[in-house]
Amino acid sequence: MSQPAGTAPPAALIDAQGLQQLIDALRGAGRQVLGPTLRDGAVVLGELRQVRDLPAGWGDFQQPASYRLRRRGDEALFGYAVGPDSAKSWMHPPRQTLWRMRRDADGSLHFDDPATHRQGALALLGLRACDLHALRIQDRVLRDGAYADPGYATRRASCVVVAVHCTDPSANCFCTSMGGDPRATSGFDLALTEIATDGAGAFVAEVGSQNGAQLLQGIAHRQATAAQCETAARRVQQARDAIDRRLDTDGLRQWLQDNPGHPHWQAIASRCLGCGNCTMACPTCFCTRVDDHGDLALREASREMRWDSCFAPDFSHLHAGNVRHELAARYRHWLSHKLAHWIDAFGTAGCVGCGRCITWCPAAIDMTAEVAAMRGGALAAADHVER
Ligand code: SF4
Ligand code: SF4
Repeated sequence: MSQPAGTAPPAALIDAQGLQQLIDALRGAGRQVLGPTLRDGAVVLGELRQVRDLPAGWGDFQQPASYRLRRRGDEALFGYAVGPDSAKSWMHPPRQTLWRMRRDADGSLHFDDPATHRQGALALLGLRACDLHALRIQDRVLRDGAYADPGYATRRASCVVVAVHCTDPSANCFCTSMGGDPRATSGFDLALTEIATDGAGAFVAEVGSQNGAQLLQGIAHRQATAAQCETAARRVQQARDAIDRRLDTDGLRQWLQDNPGHPHWQAIASRCLGCGNCTMACPTCFCTRVDDHGDLALREASREMRWDSCFAPDFSHLHAGNVRHELAARYRHWLSHKLAHWIDAFGTAGCVGCGRCITWCPAAIDMTAEVAAMRGGALAAADHVER
């Protein structure tokens, strides 16, 4: 029997009961299990205790500046594309207290043990291939880079990942343009493909690590048949075929570096609100700022790190003033960093094609359309934008 591209190697089959056993096993090992849940009208990562915490029967509808939940008409547990948050929120949290200090009446200083700020071990269930791709990109900076974050490295090393291959991409997904695919190929302990949507649950499970093999041994499963593996591969192939958004990356790095003054940057800036939503939703953006806090009596002090955005006016404020005070320069910086300078710095683009910045931009600014408009416009570069 011929198999579509991406057919899985011999795999196991688990049902909803096996999935519950998997959650129980992870929780029994002291992990907080995070996975897709419904909250505030979106699919977001939340704590999973039961299979019924998953958004059964819900899908999504995404377009530029638009996200809506929709009823699917079946009981699929993973029938939606990525939501507004990602593993970044847990591996690289939006706010972290780096240290806290107290001064006693005798003048002695007491620092909290940083271990008291440390999160317990996590398991992430339901991550998509683009999210795993994004974690690998963040690893280069936050774990393997010159200025590694030890907290990130600890959280990453201890985290169990149960991926779910995409079967229902959104209209904003373009992972296939960024070297990705709806099917995850690495970075997971177990990977599931949902092949039945009738409520009983049927998942073809692949093992990605020794840890994943041990987890699988502890839950009810049986050998998946060739037909079940083929169904899994076909569902992922359908997702691959459904992705029609494209970003032409051929020669893009050089083009962006050659066109800092292109007039289209101003056209984008005329619509951009400078809100920074794109950077907050992006699973690879990693920039942070550090703020110190203290009381006037100097009895307590703390240092907090929180996400920052290159769209914030003070992000690029140096001693002599702001080096990117025009919005056009800030958008250009963000896009060029993602698609050009990141390649110079880290050997990979900083975009995985998840589409979040398109969905969650209130001005419906779509990086794939903007790049196409700039490159297709064949306009001569002009010095309309500060360099
Ligand atoms: S730049 Fe946009 S599409 Fe690319 S990874 Fe970030 S949020 Fe996803
Ligand atoms: S591109 Fe969109 S999301 Fe990003 S800063 Fe501008 S308005 Fe906000």
